[in-house]
Amino acid sequence: MNIKTENERKIIYVDNNATTSVAPEVFEAMVPFFKSEYFNPSSVYNEALFAHNSVEKSREKIAHLLGDVDPSEITFTSCATESNNMAIFGAIRANSNVNRSQSSQPHIITTAVEHPAVIQVCREAERYGAKVTFLSVNKNGELDITEFVRALNVDTLMVSIMHANNETGVIFPIEELSRITKETNPNIIFHTDATQTVGKLKIDLNSRSGNFRYVDLLSFSGHKLHAPKGVGSLFIRKGTAIRPILIGGHQERGKRAGTENVAGIVALAKAMELSLESGSENGSGSAGASGGPAYKELLYLKNLRDTLESSIISKVPFLEVNGAKAKRLPNTTNLSCHYIEGEGILYQLNSYGICASSGSACTSGSLDPSHVLKAMKIPFTAVHGSIRFSLSRYNTMEEINYISKVFPEIVRNLRRLSPYWNQEKDCPREGAPAV
Ligand code: PLP
Repeated sequence: MNIKTENERKIIYVDNNATTSVAPEVFEAMVPFFKSEYFNPSSVYNEALFAHNSVEKSREKIAHLLGDVDPSEITFTSCATESNNMAIFGAIRANSNVNRSQSSQPHIITTAVEHPAVIQVCREAERYGAKVTFLSVNKNGELDITEFVRALNVDTLMVSIMHANNETGVIFPIEELSRITKETNPNIIFHTDATQTVGKLKIDLNSRSGNFRYVDLLSFSGHKLHAPKGVGSLFIRKGTAIRPILIGGHQERGKRAGTENVAGIVALAKAMELSLESGSENGSGSAGASGGPAYKELLYLKNLRDTLESSIISKVPFLEVNGAKAKRLPNTTNLSCHYIEGEGILYQLNSYGICASSGSACTSGSLDPSHVLKAMKIPFTAVHGSIRFSLSRYNTMEEINYISKVFPEIVRNLRRLSPYWNQEKDCPREGAPAV
């Protein structure tokens, strides 16, 4: 079992959309930079050269893995939140009143289900005069392309739409949305937050042949793919006007000031190599311009996830898989158990050593219902009982079987205490299974 020990407590970690464990190979790659190779990569003496070269080699590796883009198009940041801030504020600051009509209000199109690292940035942009369209989703968590097309207008400065949702795993059709955007007006900047998909789905930014060739800006983060926290990146396609938001030294070609996190950058490149190296989404080939995530790993994750879902569905009545009808990430399942609280389920799972989540990591700890499930118009009795399992390559079938065994018991016990459930029991809806 992939069980971690923390004060001898054995755990099953199934919260990988919140963060992942650092892969052993990634950890090994970082170690020299905490020991003998601690130098500032900008320093001129010989000893600093290895740190400098390691940053540049990592940049080249990542550029190659994202579709043989130019290494200068990769900017290192501290996390995806910073990358998203840089993409949105950077575009607004560089482009106000460019490429648009005389309106002084830049228009941004995003969705109602983005991570707070985009939604709140857009809300802040509104305070500075931007006009933001938050596209709705249907009950499967999908966007309506017609609504998207209708939202594009002469004032549209940028589109910022995530690749896959962190809570439900629902995947948005970035290829199509970015193509439509550029066909409508090539000057509109297209940004995607790919924090949950780099290393999991095919992302090829090659400007001639890539499925993401119309994407100008792409954010991602190390700690979602088995690198440590504290490192992220923003892909900035050549010719995309961005003003820096972290201003100071000349690092990252003046795009992002601050001494580089050398160990983190090396780790990010290593982690991406590990996720992408052994095959493509189409079942063959190596990483690089035509490559994609390791296909075997995707199948492995999908098999674990589907086994977990089908086992739980067969044992727990009044349970829905949110986004089940949409295209989804293979590692994510978001379940709504009617009539009980997700927090209660989490605490019970915790007592069995199972680490899951009841929404995005940033919002668990608050009792606000998930903005994503609310946008999907999931019924009140189900939104509050939502739980997310997100798997990684380190999870095993043994762990899945264990969760499948204890989860129905937990739900049964919590429902016994639930007034809503008791109401259902006393006055069952038509077609309701026996309680
Ligand atoms: N965007 C998405 C889709 C995420 O899932 C997350 C983290 O959960 C973030 C952005 C923020 O990432 P970071 O923690 O690297 O800032």
